[in-house]
Amino acid sequence: MANELKPETVSVIGLGAMGTALAKAFLANNHRVTVWNRTAAKCTPLADAGARVARSVAEAADESDVIVVCVLDYAASNSLLHTPDVAGRLSGKTVVQLTTGRPQETREQEAWAKQHGVAYVDGAIMGYPKDMGTPDGTVLYAGSHAVFEAVLPVLLSLGQHALFVGENIATAAALDASLIGSYSFGAALAFLYGAAICDAEGVPLDTYLSMVVDLINPGFVVPTVQTCVEMIRKGSYAGADATLDVWAAGVRKMVQITRDNGVDSAYIEGLLGYLERAIAMGHGRDEFPAVFECFRKRTV
Ligand code: NAP
Repeated sequence: MANELKPETVSVIGLGAMGTALAKAFLANNHRVTVWNRTAAKCTPLADAGARVARSVAEAADESDVIVVCVLDYAASNSLLHTPDVAGRLSGKTVVQLTTGRPQETREQEAWAKQHGVAYVDGAIMGYPKDMGTPDGTVLYAGSHAVFEAVLPVLLSLGQHALFVGENIATAAALDASLIGSYSFGAALAFLYGAAICDAEGVPLDTYLSMVVDLINPGFVVPTVQTCVEMIRKGSYAGADATLDVWAAGVRKMVQITRDNGVDSAYIEGLLGYLERAIAMGHGRDEFPAVFECFRKRTV
């Protein structure tokens, strides 16, 4: 996806599957790219593709104005960046942190960055390495909007969807946990669980798959999640569709189905537990989005 972006200097720290894809996308967009990886051998293909290879993190920090970090976790990232030598060299530069982190870790890193005069944008990658540098490449960014705007010419190399989600530094990490960790992963697990039920009952998986696709688009899922947000916002879960009592009766039946056909029942029993808790809280005649009351943060 080479484009007309102004060439910038960018260092990529961490050349795992994702870091390598990021570095390739920056090279494809004609930026001057420097790479560093703990296991030096992973730098060779990128050097062959035109990247400079730094001998240390400090050298990678020196070489570029924008430092993109993509290692396993924040513990690894902190071990690389939080040394007096590296911190000093990062002063006045911009760190784009694409390592997956917890909201709390992004807040700690923001405080560290401020303390050391480092501009910091936190990103959450919504996709696989193969998506990076394609038009569909999507990354959420949080932090200072001015810093985001300044590094956008670099970030656009990763895909057209460089989405700024807010100045609260934890926003991208929280959305990552919600969109991928909770929603997508939960939906994928729910799909697999349904596949096990169909499989146990001799229902072809292709039939199940095509009906799930209909359910998502344009059927049940979109209006359901929209209703959830409306009800949470109102703080009222009263409705005329189906009560939690009715849902719980249905889910109890599902527990029985899995006991009958030998599919593991722990998953569905776990979900039932939340419905029963919401009912115990007095929401039996409400609609099922009331389960949010079991999940939500307590202010004590
Ligand atoms: P990966 O292929 O396992 O690579 C991990 C990278 O972290 C390697 O460069 C590794 O260096 C480095 N590393 C690990 N521990 C280190 C340490 N203590 N010190 C220095 N370097 C260390 O993982 P990945 O798929 O590239 O994922 C990297 C980040 O991207 C993760 O936070 C992940 O959640 C995020 N992400 C990945 C995907 C994906 O689809 N892969 C999607 C979204 C977000 P060595 O090569 O020396 O081992």
